[in-house]
Amino acid sequence: MNMISNHMPTEELQALDAAHHMHPFTANGELATKGARVITRANGVHLTDSQGNQILDGMSGLWCVNIGYGRDELADVAARQMRELPYYNTFFQTTHVPVIALSAQIAELTPGDLNNVFYAGSGSEANDTNIRLVRHYWAMKGHTEKNVIISRHNAYHGSTLGGTSLGGMSGMHAQGGPMVGGIHHINQPNWWSEGGDMSPEEFGLARAQELEQAILELGENRVAAFIAEPVQGAGGVIVAPDTYWPEIQRICDKYDILLIADEVICGFGRTGNWFGSQTMGIRPDIMTIAKGLSSGYAPIGGSIVSDDIASVIAQGEFNHGYTYSGHPVACAVAMENLRIMQEENIVEHARDVAAPYLKEKWEALADHPMVGEAKIVGLMASVALTPDKANRAAFASETGTVGFMCRERSFANNLIMRHVGDRMVIAPPLVITPDEIDVMMDRAVQSLDEAHKAVKDAGLFVSA
Ligand SMILES: *Cc1c(COP(=O)(O)O)cnc(C)c1O
Repeated sequence: MNMISNHMPTEELQALDAAHHMHPFTANGELATKGARVITRANGVHLTDSQGNQILDGMSGLWCVNIGYGRDELADVAARQMRELPYYNTFFQTTHVPVIALSAQIAELTPGDLNNVFYAGSGSEANDTNIRLVRHYWAMKGHTEKNVIISRHNAYHGSTLGGTSLGGMSGMHAQGGPMVGGIHHINQPNWWSEGGDMSPEEFGLARAQELEQAILELGENRVAAFIAEPVQGAGGVIVAPDTYWPEIQRICDKYDILLIADEVICGFGRTGNWFGSQTMGIRPDIMTIAKGLSSGYAPIGGSIVSDDIASVIAQGEFNHGYTYSGHPVACAVAMENLRIMQEENIVEHARDVAAPYLKEKWEALADHPMVGEAKIVGLMASVALTPDKANRAAFASETGTVGFMCRERSFANNLIMRHVGDRMVIAPPLVITPDEIDVMMDRAVQSLDEAHKAVKDAGLFVSA
């Protein structure tokens, strides 16, 4: 077998990558001509690439490395667990210590009676579980017809067939269909792009009331659950107006519909509380978790369900599970991650130090000539790029053209900032310090300035 080390010349690594590795969410043909960036090491909030560049990771990988890179404790725990018990399943009336410890710890952290965890290997798998779980729950209660799940356009709930179908990404729905049936989408609470002449408050209420309209149209007895991210992440860090969530909660309560909060990004400190549901003041029946649960050090996800749901499901056998449900190494790593977060008060650091410091600087971006709104909740933030703020105009160029140009400038300036269409988003590790935030913001502003100039020079600073 070939030993492919980090020390091989970058061009050779890129050529092998292009020849044999299919990248997710990537135009692989185009990437092959350009060569992928090779990341070799990471520490704290910084990545190092094969050419020795130090890059500030403003995205925590994919919104997941909440405690930052390079924590030896997690490596040590993984090695120890691999020696002691690398694998055993939890299917046939067996269990093991790491899964017991982690489940009890999660139950302690979650609000209300969300005390029961069904494990998966990822957020996508956990949402697949949720589809089957909520339908099975209602069937167990004698309501087999209560099986429709309502979600939102521009939601992200993963990339498996179930996750894609639940999500509302048009580019994803356009490929690999037909999608899973029995899923209905309503509009998202994105005031900047879709609010028209309404105030944010009116708009938030109107978008929440689409849930009630959908329930009445589909039939009150047919809707099993509503799923949503407390703050849409992959959709562009869309923060709903204040009026939105209280109305959603009211409607779910009124029609006896399970509320699934997809906390895959928002969970584990991202919004300044342990869970985004706490920040938004909602009481979900189910939470989807992954990403920050292990800070990305091991693949693990799950569904946290209420005592009521767990007790109904417990009345029979739920014919569902993954080989790696409750994987001992992943559970041990997640447990150590949570221990560090608690001992080092990382959620408090995010809430009381990093988020307020970043908020002031981030919101000031709204004064930039190419920025419309600047939104931030905890340590997830976005700006809408626009050629005309007064009219909240989109660019005339194809959506994402300007955003991509800005991302290219950001990468060149050694900052990982992502673009979603023509919004720029960041979600740095929760451990980021004020000094590091200064560096991050200097690079972000420089990238916006350079992109602004490039967009004007290319004649693209034009409204649709
Ligand atoms: C990333 C994400 C998922 C999917 O998680 P994977 O681990 O990539 O399968 C689901 N929901 C939300 C909100 C996410 O951000």
